[in-house]
Amino acid sequence: MTQAYTYPLLIGQLLRSALQTSAQQRITYADQIDLTYADLEKRVKRLGSVLSGLGLGKDAVVAVMDWDSNRYLECFFSVPMVGATLHTVNVRLSPEQILYTINHAEDDAILVHEDFVPVLLPLLPRITRKVHLILLTDRADAVVPTGFSGEYEALLAAADPDFAFSEFDENTRATLFYTTGTTGDPKGVCYSHRQLVLHTMGQLVALGPIPGNGGVHRNDVYMPITPLFHVHGWGFPYAATLLGLHQVYPGRYEPTRLLALIEKHGVTFSHCVPTILAMLLQAPESASVDLSRWKVIIGGAALPEGLARAAMARGIDVHAAYGMSETCPFLTLADMVASQATADTALIRTATGKPIPMVQLRIVDPEMRDVAKDGISSGEVVARAPWLTQGYLKNTSGTKDLWGGGWLHTGDVGVMTPDGTLRITDRLKDVIKSGGEWISSLALENIVSTVNGVLEVAAVGVPDPRWGERPVLVLALGAVDVKDAKAEVSAAVDAAIGGGALSKWAAPNRIYIVKALPKTSVGKIDKKLIRSMIEDGSLSE
Ligand code: AMP
Repeated sequence: MTQAYTYPLLIGQLLRSALQTSAQQRITYADQIDLTYADLEKRVKRLGSVLSGLGLGKDAVVAVMDWDSNRYLECFFSVPMVGATLHTVNVRLSPEQILYTINHAEDDAILVHEDFVPVLLPLLPRITRKVHLILLTDRADAVVPTGFSGEYEALLAAADPDFAFSEFDENTRATLFYTTGTTGDPKGVCYSHRQLVLHTMGQLVALGPIPGNGGVHRNDVYMPITPLFHVHGWGFPYAATLLGLHQVYPGRYEPTRLLALIEKHGVTFSHCVPTILAMLLQAPESASVDLSRWKVIIGGAALPEGLARAAMARGIDVHAAYGMSETCPFLTLADMVASQATADTALIRTATGKPIPMVQLRIVDPEMRDVAKDGISSGEVVARAPWLTQGYLKNTSGTKDLWGGGWLHTGDVGVMTPDGTLRITDRLKDVIKSGGEWISSLALENIVSTVNGVLEVAAVGVPDPRWGERPVLVLALGAVDVKDAKAEVSAAVDAAIGGGALSKWAAPNRIYIVKALPKTSVGKIDKKLIRSMIEDGSLSE
């Protein structure tokens, strides 16, 4: 009989591997805590002991409501390693939506930062299951509310530092979170240990072999600027841990603090949505911070050319990536190899890019037939990869739609060039249909983003009796004359139409000016809200 060992792809293996090479490397939390990876391992074991002491193991669901901290990273490992599911609660949702996700996920425990206790306490009577509560705090003198099992650090201090995690099936559910920005109730998305391990590998295989300064290397200093509740911080905390990088967790996102941490710790690698990068570049403190060693992956929304150029002017090595909650999230990455050339690389950096290893992408028509890879023919992007969610939790019809024809339907519209480069042109529901033609809102926004003084731009369709829909623009401007800026925007759009980059229907009917565009719970421009603001007349030209 065989004695061979069948190696399970478990999240614990990521940490174990890191300890072999980087036991003394650092993990910093907002300048309050500095740990080594060896400390991290001990704390992960202690947390495992606390969780099992509370009866939280296989089949349990453990929720976290915290800012980005070393504690959150510890939960990324401990919770799945005891066989439980980590529910990363989107703390930016409304209290009613948070309650919905807690009940829908069937949470058995909630680890909650004291900043969110005022949100959670009034919800407790409506939480349908009995939940254990653990307080997370950055203060030594915080009072533990009644009914809580204790405070995180005190519980860890009293726990077993040699707690032993057991092995189990790699297909065990590891994480669960809820998608945002959709209509109706949030949808639960789950990933298994195997999927997260393979996603980590895929991400690093995509980022590792880039020549020169690109990609991720051992000497990089990593700081997430995507909240850890947003698709596990896009998986990067697992990848950074596996590589044994110095990691900096920033706590609550405030531009001053983020910039100070980048400077103090020499952060070289981060990821965020475009609006956060724009906010950092516009912060008054930013001008005095050297950002020339900083590599940033931009995802969650298209990287506008104007923003890419502003970042490049500061020496930032910026690249777009593409994915979604349902895809763990990585699907594609801008061609970082090509962008290391010295020519003007803004267009390479902003393209949605090429599939990362193990990802298969197709662009299909409604009958699932492939459209031509000619950079012009558009269709829906569908995907296969080892790490795509297998369905929405307790939602059979949503799952059926998501996986129609055996491919995951992204709901995004894109084109592919003959060399396999993808460009997302819209979300299906954001497409502007005017006079029978599709206008790409992203292409229109991209052109406008390069106009001097345009800080933020959204292009949306509004109903029109003659054309079905017409595009309108909503802009946030810097210190420029509004009339001049509008004229420059119109001229840029006309030039793009003249040059064939935009369809002749793309010239906007109206241009609204706002102080700042509304954002979703994960910091993206909220087009749904913008459309309803236009409809109810609350925007002015
Ligand atoms: P979420 O599930 O909240 O992460 O949102 C995923 C959606 O964000 C995708 O389906 C796309 O519509 C959009 N998105 C993410 N990355 C990009 C990108 N690089 N370019 C264009 N859209 C993107």
